Amino acid sequence: MWYFKSPEVVYGDDALGYLDTLPGNRAFIVTDPVILELGFAALVEEHLNTAGMQTAVFAEVEPEPSLQTVRRGAATMRDFAPDWIIGLGGGSSMDAAKAMWILYERPDLDPAEINPFTELGLRQKARLIAIPTTSGTGAEATWGIVLTDEVEQRKLALGSREALPDIAIVDPALVINLPPQITADTGMDALTHAVEGYTSAWHNDFCDGLCLQAIKLIFEYLPRAYARGSEDPEAREKMHNAACIAGLGFGNSMAALAHAMGHALGGVFHVPHGRAVSIFLPYSIEFTVRGGGTRYAEIAHFLGLAAGDEATGARSLVEAIRKLARQINQPQTVRELGIAPAEFEANLPKLVTNAETDTQMVTSTRMPSVEQCEQLFRYAYEGREVDF
Ligand SMILES: [Zn+2]
Repeated sequence: MWYFKSPEVVYGDDALGYLDTLPGNRAFIVTDPVILELGFAALVEEHLNTAGMQTAVFAEVEPEPSLQTVRRGAATMRDFAPDWIIGLGGGSSMDAAKAMWILYERPDLDPAEINPFTELGLRQKARLIAIPTTSGTGAEATWGIVLTDEVEQRKLALGSREALPDIAIVDPALVINLPPQITADTGMDALTHAVEGYTSAWHNDFCDGLCLQAIKLIFEYLPRAYARGSEDPEAREKMHNAACIAGLGFGNSMAALAHAMGHALGGVFHVPHGRAVSIFLPYSIEFTVRGGGTRYAEIAHFLGLAAGDEATGARSLVEAIRKLARQINQPQTVRELGIAPAEFEANLPKLVTNAETDTQMVTSTRMPSVEQCEQLFRYAYEGREVDF
């Protein structure tokens, strides 16, 4: 027995208008200072006020949100006593909103106890709406929560199916002016979700079609969205949809090795999530295909690339991903991130430990040993083709 979970997805032009008639009394918006500055929180408040709601804004979410911020936000939330919680922003704000919501409903809970096997009993006090302002994380359609433990210098991957947003509002107006670098980082994150969602050990019939469609949309529209920005509203809308579709896909089949390694890297060196995970995607494919039982050739075939056998398909897919990354000026190696060799070597044991213990490692079809994991990090640092 397993589940396919999805929020109600409201998408397309004027999707935010959905809020105008939302029933309820008090809405608490969780966001970050940049989104506040851009006026998006005020825009969402306007819609909620039209619905007759009182609103409060917590705009202190930092990139890679910390446990401390989440605890502070949950305390503010308890004072305001909302019946709706709105996560507005990128993955950080939406994840922070999920975690704050859980602690608001369950103040007795230690965040480390948030796992898929613990019944939380949410929705006694409030429900959750997620509104993405980037096209990448798909956090509006997933129940995973990534927080940073600043003391331990590692990512905490938490999650509960109950923490899935009730409603996802995917409005392209919120991403029309996204800066190119964020378009690139988050777009590559979405691609990594879709590829890993299709090939993870937990891949399933319900997610396959979603992942393939997201992959197709991203290869077609990410270069356009990156190069033309607000002049190409079609590319913006397609990328916004693609990120959510990829979220629905991998959210129900999990990610894999590239995410485990990317989480590890991001926890130590503070590399943006999408850049961190997508750097490892080609290396993880090269490594995983050597273990057999993969289905990269199916993706390659779907994209019209050479896919005569599994190894050929994997190679074409890796080439296509590298070409896409070059088109949008993304780094292809860990060294290109500006991490000095000595610094990298000094932190290698920590990277390996963090990757090996990451939740997304379990769903990789070929799990590297500690030695292989260390070697994979070295190859990704140097940009070498994986041959083991
Ligand atoms: Zn991701």
